[in-house]
Amino acid sequence: MSVLTTADSSPTAAVDLGPAAALSCRECGERFPLSPIFACASCFGPLEIAYDLPSGDPEGLRRRIEAGPKSIWRYAPLLPVPADVADKPNLNPGFTPLVKADRLAAELGVTGPLYVKDDSGNPTHSFKDRVVAQALEAARAFGFTTLSCSSTGNLAGAVGAAAARAGLRACVFIPRDLEQAKVVMAAVYGGDVVAIEGSYDDVNRFCSELIGDPIGEGWGFVNVNLRPYYAEGSKTLAFEICEQLGWRLPDQLVIPIASGSQLTKIDKGLKELIATGLVEEKPYKIFGAQAEGCSPVSQAFRDGHDVVRPVKPNTIAKSLAIGNPADGPYVLDIARRTGGAVADVTDEQIVSAIKLLARTEGIFTETAGGVTLGVARKLLEEGTLDPSLTTVVVNTGDGLKTLDAVASETGPTATIPPSLDAFRQAGLA
Ligand SMILES: *Cc1c(COP(=O)(O)O)cnc(C)c1O
Repeated sequence: MSVLTTADSSPTAAVDLGPAAALSCRECGERFPLSPIFACASCFGPLEIAYDLPSGDPEGLRRRIEAGPKSIWRYAPLLPVPADVADKPNLNPGFTPLVKADRLAAELGVTGPLYVKDDSGNPTHSFKDRVVAQALEAARAFGFTTLSCSSTGNLAGAVGAAAARAGLRACVFIPRDLEQAKVVMAAVYGGDVVAIEGSYDDVNRFCSELIGDPIGEGWGFVNVNLRPYYAEGSKTLAFEICEQLGWRLPDQLVIPIASGSQLTKIDKGLKELIATGLVEEKPYKIFGAQAEGCSPVSQAFRDGHDVVRPVKPNTIAKSLAIGNPADGPYVLDIARRTGGAVADVTDEQIVSAIKLLARTEGIFTETAGGVTLGVARKLLEEGTLDPSLTTVVVNTGDGLKTLDAVASETGPTATIPPSLDAFRQAGLA
């Protein structure tokens, strides 16, 4: 693996990333100083951030958070960012609505409270603004001048916008077959967009090579060499959900899986809320959602395997089309440990769920959201999700980016000349 090569080629002098104390190996626990590395020098396990978390005064911490900005930065005491982060030029994502979805609940036969955490309203219309905001702070701390990523679509747009706001260069890599809206959103902010002839997994491999090469010096790849920092951004979904529930844990969460980073970090965020005393401990279950055409984690869950066998993706849910998900084994562990599950739905079920959410709650989600709600519906029908409990379905993106998924089935109910007679004849009066 050519994964450690940036350790000595990048500036790593003592950095101020707030409460972040060190990098810690998720496999063997070995610790490393905060730097742009992502794999353990001893066992090659993935690294994550270890903290000196605030303790002893949860009431005071809660008040401090509630008085903070209406963005992810209200949780700065729990994130790898400097204390003055909100003053720096950035997109200030987060604090998106937790929508009580009563009409959706009625349609699904859910009797307990059902919520949609709606991240479609973030600055670039997906949850990726959360993770990129953390990576940007790490890039600044390490002195990187180019922000980069391998992307399934949404990440490229989020990186382009964040780099533009911060005055950094962006150069992002995408698979060639993405939706037009996602390519446009990646390019419009003025950075370079490189379409690679291959799948996302090919793009990702290419980026790992680039980091190991002198060309990549000074480059912060948000989801490769800055991945430990980037990943922490997903914790803010957990923080917001619990704060919006009145500082309580939900009983069940349904979360989409691409690399599995978001799901594992939502779990980490919930555990940190418990550890800091911000919420009272109680059991919760985490459910993962994939598209049938890219369901390596769901297949491993179903077969009772611990290893995730890579697949070649073929689904309309392109933002989730990662055939070799880095966090797959951790997702399996979390689903099993919490009593949750991982399941998948067909492209048809994805489209049907997109329309269901739009029709019942006025939320237009992208294909990834169709996957998540589709899986929630399927698990309810199977009796795997308990309809009487507090359930949160995470909507991670905006339907305007994947119009083609529903375009063929939606359009004018009638096309008529501008006359009352014609309207009457159309049978809609
Ligand atoms: C990237 C992405 C996800 C999930 O990403 P992970 O790699 O699992 O963290 C979910 N939904 C959308 C819309 C995305 O763009």
